[in-house]
Parts: sequence; C-alpha cells; structure tokens
Amino acid sequence: MFGHIYVEDKARDHAMTRRILDRFSDSTVIGIRHFKDVFNRPGQDVLIQGKDRSLILAVNDGKKIFEASPVCQDMGLGDFFYAESAMNCIFSCDYCFLKGMYGTSNVVIFVNSDDYLAECAQRLDKGPMYLCASFNTDLGALNGICEWQSIWEDFAASHTELTLELRSKSVIHDTRTEDNIIYAFTLSPEKIIKEFEKGTPSLDKRIESVNRALAKGSSVRLCFDPLIYIKDFELCYNEFADKVIRDIDIIRVRDISIGSFRISSEYIAALRRACPDSSAVLYPFEKENGFCVYPSGIRSRLIGTLEKRFVEEGFGSKLYVMR
Ligand code: SF4
Repeated sequence: MFGHIYVEDKARDHAMTRRILDRFSDSTVIGIRHFKDVFNRPGQDVLIQGKDRSLILAVNDGKKIFEASPVCQDMGLGDFFYAESAMNCIFSCDYCFLKGMYGTSNVVIFVNSDDYLAECAQRLDKGPMYLCASFNTDLGALNGICEWQSIWEDFAASHTELTLELRSKSVIHDTRTEDNIIYAFTLSPEKIIKEFEKGTPSLDKRIESVNRALAKGSSVRLCFDPLIYIKDFELCYNEFADKVIRDIDIIRVRDISIGSFRISSEYIAALRRACPDSSAVLYPFEKENGFCVYPSGIRSRLIGTLEKRFVEEGFGSKLYVMR
C-alpha cells in the first residue's frame, strides 16, 4: 500500500507525519508545496489509481468542521457536523460518493490534529454537537496508518457535550465504552459486498466486530445504508435480515439506520466514469432536490423490506429511516 507518499512542506515536521513515514519506510517520499497540486491534478484516472494509491500528508489550514448535508441522517441528535480529518478511502465501493466528488483515488491525511480539536472545542462552546468524524473517509480502515480514530475517541471522552460517530466497514478490534462515542458499523448482504464493496471485510467479519464492541459495552449503531437495488433484492435483504437478527443481540444495539442509495446529481457523471461497468451506479436514477435517487416505489420497497423485519422483531423504536 502507498508506494508513493507526498508530504506537504508544512506537514513535514508534524509528529503524525513522522509516525506515518516510520510505518512506510519502503515508500518513496516526495516533497510537495501544497496537497492540492497532487490531489486536484486534472485528468486523473480513478480506476487505475485505485490499484496503486498514493498517500498525501498535509496540513489543513482551512475549515475543518462542516455542517452535514440534509441527506445525512442526524439520528435525532441535533446539530450535525462532520470533520474532514482525511479525504478518500482505502476501500473502493462502486457507489461511493467520494469517487464522484474527488476525481482521484489518492488519500489525504491531515496531520494537524490539534487544530481540529481546537476548532471542535470552539464550536462546542456554542452548545452540544453531533460530529461524524469518519465521513469523507473510513477512519477505521486507516487505523494502523494514522491515529485519527483514537485522537477523536480521546477528545470525545473528555468532552461529553460532543456525540461522536465513527462509521466504518472495517474490522474494529478495540472500542471505547463512553456513551457519547458511537461505533457505527455499516452492514450489507454478502452478495452486495462481493459485487460492489471492493476491498471491504466480509459480512461475517463485520458482525464479529459488532459483537466484540457489544460484548465490551460500547455504544453500537447498525447502518443499513446504502441499500442497493438488485434483481431479487427482497430475497437478498430478507436473508440478510435473518442473519443479522440471528447473529447480533439487537436488543443491545443503540440504534439502526436505514437508507437507500442517493448521491448528489453533481457527482453521478464522475462516479459512472469511475465505475463504468457497475450496475449500482448505472441505474437510471430520478433527480430529486439535487440528488439522484431510486424512483419512490423502488425506494419504499427496498427500505420497507428491512424496516418490516426489524419492526416485526420489536426493534421499531431503534429505527431511523431516511426515506
Ligand atoms: S467504505 Fe465508505 S468511504 Fe470507503 S469506499 Fe466504501 S463507501 Fe466510500
């Protein structure tokens, strides 16, 4: 992983940079003036780069915490923000909006963590906040490369007015038990994982992570989002619900989110160029309020398949559904 690591001049002397470079002592390190010179270079081929990603270490001297889009579920937790601690992901889900948004497969890790925590603390002075720290990336997947996940965990542990969500498709070995740190595990049917979620752990591995976190007493969220419309989706998602209900002690789960695939209309063309053979993105979506979505009939059948199962099992009060 990461044959080439680009290091911004400003990032060179940061402690996180040194720790990451120590972990990748075989990589070729190239100094750059600004991360955008590499990350935003025109004409990059997401498909080819995905086979040999580069890592970029940079300092974010702009905004670090952003208000979340209305198509993101706030899970009833109020003022909803996300932090851009890294950009892009080492996994390669066909439907990922990052492919449409960034036009590159290279990954940026911002190394000035203290500045992020200061901006977050400043925002918390105005009142409680719900912060998704694993948003334009999968921080769980970057564990072992950088320590962002534990930085956010430590910060949340000492700032109880912050509700932190760490969303991941990765295998998570260690979780914390503070109530305000939510580990959000995205689960999908194995058929969907194999076809559309390239490089991600199997459903069994993800369920093991969920159960490990639950056994430890951590706050766990299950995310069935995005649901993907495929042939025989009812059978596929019903079998998936059988497995989830059988293998996970749902009563101990904090909440469950359900949503079908949606993406900003701005990104769909680039996403299709990045995944030209993927039925997940080639579907003739409808446009609604600036987003590409499935037609409403398909959306409600997709969502309804899982929703019905969890309501029947008595978990209706844990459900947050994005319709
Ligand atoms: S795991 Fe999430 S962030 Fe990473 S490629 Fe898949 S959808 Fe995108």
